Amino acid sequence: MEFEKFRESVLACQDCAGRFGHKPIPIFHGTPHSKIMQISQAPSSNVHLTRRPFNDPSGDKLKYQWYQITDEIFYNEDNFYITSIAKCFPGKNGKGGDKPPPVSCAKKWLAQDMSMVDNKLFSIVGAKAANYLFPGENFVDLVFKNNTLNNKPAVVMPHPSPLNVRWFKEHPQFEAQRMPEIREMVWSTLGITK
Ligand code: SF4
Repeated sequence: MEFEKFRESVLACQDCAGRFGHKPIPIFHGTPHSKIMQISQAPSSNVHLTRRPFNDPSGDKLKYQWYQITDEIFYNEDNFYITSIAKCFPGKNGKGGDKPPPVSCAKKWLAQDMSMVDNKLFSIVGAKAANYLFPGENFVDLVFKNNTLNNKPAVVMPHPSPLNVRWFKEHPQFEAQRMPEIREMVWSTLGITK
């Protein structure tokens, strides 16, 4: 399938309408030549409403504290291809969090994302995406080492959601030591110099 057709097919997908109880809004962002493919869990309610990926507190942490890049850089489709296990907001779980992303979405679309895009680096955000892409591997180990996915370098981060505060407290070396290494790889891939 050629890329534009693929994009149109994703944007038209309504497979989960019955499951979610609301109209799915697939989020699609990127080109076949985006430098970094970022794969996370699923869009949040705010992303669902605004149709702008990572336009929420998780995104603020990821963009400004972890990557330390501007919106102009992050939302440049030549830089980031932004995709997820589920491309639509799956709804709230009643305890303040979001429902788990339907894996059926990843099975339908994610391998196509990965085959169509000529990215140089994978940035995996959150345990749900990491567990799907690296089945059977320990999540903490994945975060603290350089990985390979689809024969390309891949970095893994915890989810930047404020709900994940316990993980950050239990692993202070992530923000102190590992994130600067990941940032270096992201900047180098994007051609950013200090
Ligand atoms: S989550 Fe994925 S499979 Fe479900 S409606 Fe959205 S694009 Fe389609």
